[in-house]
Amino acid sequence: DVAPETRSFEADVAKLLHLMVHSVYSDKDVFLRELISNAADACEKLRYESLSDPALAAGGSPQVTVTLDPEARQLMIEDNGIGMSEAELVEALGTIARSGTKAFMERVASAKDAEGTQLIGQFGVGFYSAFMVADRVDVLSRRAGSDQAARWSSDGLGTYTVQSADTGEAPEHGTRVLLHLKEDAASYTERYRVQQIIKDQSGHVPVPIFLKEKPDAEAEQIADGAALWTKPKSEISAEEYTDFYRSVAGQFDQPALTLHYRAEGLHEYSVLAFIPEMKPFDLFDPDRAGRMKLYVRRVFITDEAEILPRYLRFVRGLVDSSDLPLNVSREMIQQSPVLAAIQKGVSNRVLTELEKLSANDGEGYIKFWDNFGAVLKEGLYEDYTRREQLLGLARFKSTASGEGWRSLKDYSASMKENQTAIYYATGSDLDRLASSPQLEGFRARGIEVLLLTDQVDSFWVTAGVDYDGKPFKSVTQGLADLSLIPMPEGETEAPVASEEVSSFIDFAKQLLKDQVSDVRVSERLTESPVCLVAAEHGMDRQLEKLLAAAGR
Ligand code: ADP
Ligand code: MG
Repeated sequence: DVAPETRSFEADVAKLLHLMVHSVYSDKDVFLRELISNAADACEKLRYESLSDPALAAGGSPQVTVTLDPEARQLMIEDNGIGMSEAELVEALGTIARSGTKAFMERVASAKDAEGTQLIGQFGVGFYSAFMVADRVDVLSRRAGSDQAARWSSDGLGTYTVQSADTGEAPEHGTRVLLHLKEDAASYTERYRVQQIIKDQSGHVPVPIFLKEKPDAEAEQIADGAALWTKPKSEISAEEYTDFYRSVAGQFDQPALTLHYRAEGLHEYSVLAFIPEMKPFDLFDPDRAGRMKLYVRRVFITDEAEILPRYLRFVRGLVDSSDLPLNVSREMIQQSPVLAAIQKGVSNRVLTELEKLSANDGEGYIKFWDNFGAVLKEGLYEDYTRREQLLGLARFKSTASGEGWRSLKDYSASMKENQTAIYYATGSDLDRLASSPQLEGFRARGIEVLLLTDQVDSFWVTAGVDYDGKPFKSVTQGLADLSLIPMPEGETEAPVASEEVSSFIDFAKQLLKDQVSDVRVSERLTESPVCLVAAEHGMDRQLEKLLAAAGR
């Protein structure tokens, strides 16, 4: 062996570790879920790589083994998966690669201490959660196909060591994670306790799990690793779905919607997908990547197949195809017509399920919309082919919505005589928007105005979208068509400019010079004396602000 090399953790890791070690979060059990999910991921990666190189999987069928050692107060999680080289150990266990973890750290940085530790429970914080229960963690790993093993060790206090290791000590391929448990974490060497936690949290990882109550005891299988999605719906309980959802989605809430079906016909595939109850942390990551996994006949292939369009990225789960060849490369899969058919079929199904939800469970649908409406609306300008369907699913706050929400169907039904457009106002704050003077003329005539407060709204409304033949028109875009729409009886029209008003307008124009393109008498104000509007064909003001902020 070469002498160990000591290295410092990346700054973000150090922060995360500090949080773990000082965590008062009571549900420390999650560390087991995280380490088992890593072990199972490693097995799935090997399963995939050994498709093209069967010699890699020399160490037998994939499995995860948890070994307890009450006397030494240790717990070990071993897998015969892909393993890690020394360089991979440094990369994987010394830095934070996941963008989701970055988002988590940002949330923690801005959260109060107690809140921060609560976040751990809602969010997968991965390998480092081991330091909630251990004061030292040793990792021994050997990459499949390599004649080198490597050792990693840390007390989680800022530094770690790495060194190469004797292959004789290491598994043939795979990883051993040894936890030296803290005094107050000794209960994680109790067989029944650990067995229960694993069954509850990890019962549905797609790799069998074994438990040894002592290092020299016989291994007992406690989870079968059967693919839940291949079982008939009637044999799966709600708890099993939830458990599976949590392990496949890395979410720790309940699924708000579960989609489980098998498509038959030209292409055969199974789908098990979920819509979360809570907003995932990575929902607004710049890469907007989807989180659907692609399996081929139960073998995990990739989570980068973009099975769903980006505006459906809140859907978590998997598709298992029976038609794709197993030995095809990930790159080839991207171009496969089979994948194209799956993409289309699953996207359509998600949207019809949402339509069903909105028809059958209004309250549930609004909860969904509240969480993910802003994401779904990205589809209005990104997916022309499903635009109409998406408009049907959209819900809005408006001058008529009160505490509720309005659909475009509702809006259409209450349009006034001679009203030819759907009016909207954009802004970032709903209350301020609702009291904007720009709405007065509309209010006076009883014309409903949609109040759009999501960033994405500024984009789709200018993308030439119309609903039922009616264009969307901003209230700030020049003089709206109010003169065509009569005031309700008893109300008076805004006065025509008198001589005094005309001379005031001239004065205002002189005063403001280049700062405005025009000064006009408006029909849209009934109470406020003045308001600013964008030019008739000019950019919407909200969009203008947004583009300015983006430096364009
Ligand atoms: P995540 O699993 O979301 O990537 P983790 O913090 O749990 O984040 O793990 C970080 C990385 O460490 C993994 O992506 C993987 O590359 C590596 N890793 C962790 N455990 C194992 C293991 N048992 N076998 C192989 N690689 C592992
Ligand atoms: Mg992990």
